[in-house]
Amino acid sequence: MRACWSAAAPTGPGSRSRLTGGDKEFTSWQSFYGVMRLVAERVFPTLTEPLPTREALRARIGDEAAWRMLFEEPLGVAIEEYFTDDLVRGTVLTDALIGTFADAHDPTLLQNRCFLYHVIGGGTGDWNVPVGGMGALTDALANAARAAGAEIVTGHEATRVDTDGSRAEVTFRSDTGEATVAARHVLVNASPEALAALTGGEPPAPAEGAQFKVNMLLRRLPRLRDRCVDAREAFAGTFHVAEGYRQLAAAYGEASAGRLPSVPPSEIYCHSLTDPSVLGPELAARGYQTLTLFGLHTPARLFAHDNGAARAELLAATLAQLDAHLEEPLSDCLAPDADGRPCIEAKTPLDLERELRLPGGNIFHRALSFPYADESAGTGRWGVETAHANVLLCGAGAVRGGGVSGIPGHNAAMAALGR
Ligand SMILES: Cc1cc2nc3c(=O)[nH]c(=O)nc-3n(C[C@H](O)[C@H](O)[C@H](O)COP(=O)(O)OP(=O)(O)OC[C@H]3O[C@@H](n4cnc5c(N)ncnc54)[C@H](O)[C@@H]3O)c2cc1C
Repeated sequence: MRACWSAAAPTGPGSRSRLTGGDKEFTSWQSFYGVMRLVAERVFPTLTEPLPTREALRARIGDEAAWRMLFEEPLGVAIEEYFTDDLVRGTVLTDALIGTFADAHDPTLLQNRCFLYHVIGGGTGDWNVPVGGMGALTDALANAARAAGAEIVTGHEATRVDTDGSRAEVTFRSDTGEATVAARHVLVNASPEALAALTGGEPPAPAEGAQFKVNMLLRRLPRLRDRCVDAREAFAGTFHVAEGYRQLAAAYGEASAGRLPSVPPSEIYCHSLTDPSVLGPELAARGYQTLTLFGLHTPARLFAHDNGAARAELLAATLAQLDAHLEEPLSDCLAPDADGRPCIEAKTPLDLERELRLPGGNIFHRALSFPYADESAGTGRWGVETAHANVLLCGAGAVRGGGVSGIPGHNAAMAALGR
């Protein structure tokens, strides 16, 4: 389940006629996403089955053109075939660039893998917002686990996992000292890098993150410079800023050359419009809103020299791009905190690495994989297997992981039950 990350389709007659491609782009959009819908319907059910082979997945999709677009050719080829409008091309491409530093024509197809996971959710491509926010979801999971007899402990850092493949010992430390527990299976949702450190194994290839995250609380939504669109409508879907196709390519070029993008691309989601319960009732009644901005093409390496200075520079440049579309500066709408400071926080990949232990700030824990078995990569039967038979990945680092989906957890449970 994911809270956001869906590109808003230009559906209304107004948006259609205001595109340079006009009706043709609208028709192309429907046809392109018709293909994606077909792929979603056929691939999504496989995510909670044992990994299919590449050929089995291809047969299951049963559409060679769709297969070529997504699994064989860089996504840029299909985008340029289907669409002519730069804005539409860019909007489509963004789902391939979330947390992913790649060009539309990257021969590694990293962008295709990111795109695929963004358009197949639930078999429709729709992604859901958990009512009450992510905390409500994790509370429900914790309650279900406790009801089933689990003991949940927090503030315990695992320091070591020893295993002979059938019996394991996990050593951890907490405020009360160090201890070791024995287990038949160890399911790990920390990153594969963290797991390697725990077992003393070979660390996976590094794969840095590339996103810039800004969270904000507003007293009200800002008024838009474009009077044809109401702010509540504009922020209800995904609000794309500086994400034209050429702008994305330029930002990628600058970042590849070691510079922060001068026109930083980003997109914004307003979760409180979709679900006001993410705010307390009092703030919701006063019209407060949350905005969360996801910036693209800012790889961790750009912050290595001086994280604080790069963060401040990028935040200013990113907000300037947003302000260009607003009738009033965003800063006028930010709510103050108890000390009178504006409620805004910005996180670089290095911040996320330090605070959340995401390796290199990579929100997916590592580079995403296509959802099929790859013997050379040792993907195993469920995509959760590790070098140790009774140690399984149950988090984002598994094949078919990468998001808040629960899929790796399900698959790790299936793998453990199958042993
Ligand atoms: C800014 C941002 C935006 C995102 N947006 C979305 C989105 O819109 N939709 C979506 O689906 N996904 C999104 N994601 C990705 C999503 O958050 C992750 O895929 C998901 O959190 C992965 O869950 P996980 O349980 O596998 O790992 P994590 O949430 O990374 O949890 C692993 C935990 O293990 C802990 N840990 C590590 N080592 C140890 C140790 N030795 N001992 C004890 N604990 C340890 C870590 O501190 C961490 O708390 C986003 C991520 C970020 C950072």
